[in-house]
Amino acid sequence: MAKKTPKQALTYTRANGYEKLSPAESKKLEAVCTEYRDFLGKAKTERKAHDEAIELLEAAGFQDLDGLIRGGAALKPGDKVFRSCAGKTVLAAVLGQQPLERGLHIVGGHTDSPRLDVKQNPLYESGEMALLDTHYYGGIRKYQWVAMPLALHGVFVKPDGKKITIAIGEEPGDPVFCITDLLPHLAADQGKKTLAESHDGENLDVLVGSMPSKDKKAKEKIKLRVLELLHERYGVTEEDFLSAELEFVPAGPPREAGIDRSLIIGYGQDDRVCAYAALRALLDLPGTPRYSSCVLLCDKEEIGSVGATGMYSNFFENTVSEMLALCGGAYSELVLKRALENSWMLSADVNALFDPLFAGVSEKKNAAMLNQGTCLTKYTGARGKSGASDASAEFVAQIRRIFKRAGVVWQAAELGKVDQGGGGTIAYLMARYGMNVVDCGVALLSMHAPWEVSGKFDIYMTYKGFLAFLKDGRNAK
Ligand SMILES: [Zn+2]
Repeated sequence: MAKKTPKQALTYTRANGYEKLSPAESKKLEAVCTEYRDFLGKAKTERKAHDEAIELLEAAGFQDLDGLIRGGAALKPGDKVFRSCAGKTVLAAVLGQQPLERGLHIVGGHTDSPRLDVKQNPLYESGEMALLDTHYYGGIRKYQWVAMPLALHGVFVKPDGKKITIAIGEEPGDPVFCITDLLPHLAADQGKKTLAESHDGENLDVLVGSMPSKDKKAKEKIKLRVLELLHERYGVTEEDFLSAELEFVPAGPPREAGIDRSLIIGYGQDDRVCAYAALRALLDLPGTPRYSSCVLLCDKEEIGSVGATGMYSNFFENTVSEMLALCGGAYSELVLKRALENSWMLSADVNALFDPLFAGVSEKKNAAMLNQGTCLTKYTGARGKSGASDASAEFVAQIRRIFKRAGVVWQAAELGKVDQGGGGTIAYLMARYGMNVVDCGVALLSMHAPWEVSGKFDIYMTYKGFLAFLKDGRNAK
């Protein structure tokens, strides 16, 4: 046998992953992606993603940690738990053979997505129409959100604590909503503006009705008719918008795309695609892992991870503290700090796929390519890596080992070419504990657009990579 040249010894090659996919893996890929599509179609908001996740966790035997704390239960290796944070963020874990102090293997993604939030005083009437005023959430390109069907999701909470959940626009017979746009015939002035200025954020108001109330004495009959219907169907009044969280999102389920059905087009794939892949990996984890496996599905990433349900909050470390306390032995802050510092994490977030229609924003060697597997992003940031949680070469080497052993197809890529822009994830928030963190996830086309596009192969390899990471011991031979 000829001696291997360095070239032949290469195990990291970038090629279309379908070329080497076995029929068995191909079947698994379709199964994972079908279940993902089902999850994505139901999880149209962070609250729904949270509820769907908990349903799947409970069905797989995960127990509510808060219930275990109240009951004074003790945790042992193999136990499966989850904990909710305000109905929006969720942490799930499988206790490993090693004590928590030795660190956890964490995969963390986010379940909030760019959208249009309804204001607290939103309803008004103008031009024979009733509209709801919105304040957009996250980084949207405003011109993309007009003249398309929107669904309304969210909750009204009454002063007595009663919560009314609404979802309009997803079922086939449901009405939908929309933001109107100018006709080309009258868009002379608008057409001269830049894309960023063409649509005023303040004017992203949603058309919700046009029929007058039968109340002859009312001043704003169309607005009143909307309120009458809301009251009839949901028992809410105009004042109840004050304590509501209502979100307009693109209406309808995700769909397969391409004549070969190799892609998925759907709303909210940033970052529910990685969130689902992480959750599914934890659900599929066989037996008791060597190190405790943990999945975090968090809220508020798109607006900087702030707030009680964002990664800036203490929810994660509080929950690890609770788990430590239930694992026996006296709780100590030092043990908590060790557990956090000794942890390994894949910050599961999306990257941008190379798009031939906008080739100029990428540097091809270091851009994520469709169907080339899950995307490992050593650093994010902008203008000279500013704001990046730059993962260490040592840690990236460990991930290479884990992925290679499990046959995970992956690619190393960064977001866009130097000085074109940039982005961030929750990686830096976890890195402050001193743990090893690197970004890893599915790369998308049309990221942050109402309908984002992902490749099934990349989704499957991301799931497979997360599973290998959660399962794999450190430096195992
Ligand atoms: Zn995003």
